[in-house]
Amino acid sequence: MHIRLYDTLSRRVKTLEPYGERFGFYCCGPTAYSFAHIGNFRTFLAADLLYRVLALAGYNPFYVRNVTDVDDKTIAGAQREGVSLYAFTSHWEDIFHSDCVALNLLPPDCEPHAVGHMEEQIALIQTLIDKKFAYGREGSVYFDVSTWKHYGRLSRLDERELRMGAEVSSNKEAAEDFALWKAYKPMDGSIFWDSPFGKGRPGWHIECSAMALKYLGNNFGVHGGGMDLCFPHHENEIAQSEAATGQPFARHWFHVAHLCVNGEKMSKSLGNLYTLAEIEQKGYTPMELRYALLAGHYRQPLNFTFESLHAARKALERLERFGRKLQELAGVEVPMASEFCSLAPAWDAICDDLNVPEALGRVFSHVHQCELNPPVQVQAVNEWAEWQRLMFALGFHRNAMEIPMEIEHLAQERLTARKDRNFTRADSLRKQLEAFGWAIEDTADGYRLQKLR
Ligand code: AMP
Ligand code: ZN
Repeated sequence: MHIRLYDTLSRRVKTLEPYGERFGFYCCGPTAYSFAHIGNFRTFLAADLLYRVLALAGYNPFYVRNVTDVDDKTIAGAQREGVSLYAFTSHWEDIFHSDCVALNLLPPDCEPHAVGHMEEQIALIQTLIDKKFAYGREGSVYFDVSTWKHYGRLSRLDERELRMGAEVSSNKEAAEDFALWKAYKPMDGSIFWDSPFGKGRPGWHIECSAMALKYLGNNFGVHGGGMDLCFPHHENEIAQSEAATGQPFARHWFHVAHLCVNGEKMSKSLGNLYTLAEIEQKGYTPMELRYALLAGHYRQPLNFTFESLHAARKALERLERFGRKLQELAGVEVPMASEFCSLAPAWDAICDDLNVPEALGRVFSHVHQCELNPPVQVQAVNEWAEWQRLMFALGFHRNAMEIPMEIEHLAQERLTARKDRNFTRADSLRKQLEAFGWAIEDTADGYRLQKLR
């Protein structure tokens, strides 16, 4: 099965052509200086979905998602707290990873750090200087945009917009030139690296080029990130990578539209953000957030509301109920199916530019049909196997929602106690569940269990 995906460079939906043994996919990762907000997670969830779909469709993906651990914000944070850069960034990275686990994001095949790739970045900058695409000024090195005639092709901005979007610095030759290496400033304290260009640190863009080229080769499958990275980050990555290697960089560019609040991009600078911890404090689960963020098409901006989490809860409950029913009807444990048959329409929609809203529509109409005409045992075995495959594709699979059998039994017992109006027993069962780390909440049609963190 081939996947079709919108490519920002050609502005077309194109088939992803498999190549080589592993299909390289690079997604720009978090900057480790604070909590990732749920807007960041919209992008990482869409990347996770693409990774899962590539794997299921047989592309054998190799997924790289970096961690930006050196930039103005991480350096300032470490200085402010009087700790090493590593101590500062690893704290935020640990929180990021535990959010990723809660949201059921698969770990990437490789998660490289900028600090761990100084040699590669310095070598790449040296190549650009040697090939006359870059010049040094007062200990900094800049990419000379006038040497790269394709500059602006990805973002399709005109010259004036390219200049306006560039970082301001007094010693560049032209406003649109961008930093590859930043000279040391006293405010950087003890955080600097030695290089042939003087002491300092790499600019942000060069890290992704250096790490993508190292792990995925000069020319690889898909490169992605949030829409705001299109310019200048990805435009600069293309210029410096292609100038250095003389070969096309990523074959396909994948950009995820923003998560918004009241029509404005959710961002740290606007202060209109929510973290996963805040969503959980309001009583919603990471899985419900996963559903709500994936349910909108990744190319459309998505307005975040608590109603959408509420709707996600209802939808997941229905999916879970249906899955349990299938499992019950099947009566035997079966492994995940190796292909789709009755759920093929939903899978086809996912493979067509990750059209999750369409896929979910098709899933629910299938669920509805099966509720009207429950499958007989033989059919249920196949349905259950396929269901597991689809839930894995969307990351709603049971592992993440897995409730241990004994916990389920206690919850069932408590439900019976409540129905019998034996509230003392129900309360004692609630306490037992809590002691095992599970909160229970009563709902109209039963209960809901949630792992306490
Ligand atoms: P950062 O940690 O700021 O480097 O961002 C990590 C990723 O989140 C990047 O791919 C950004 O483009 C993406 N991102 C930032 N804000 C949003 C948002 N409101 N909606 C979707 N993606 C976002
Ligand atoms: Zn990047």
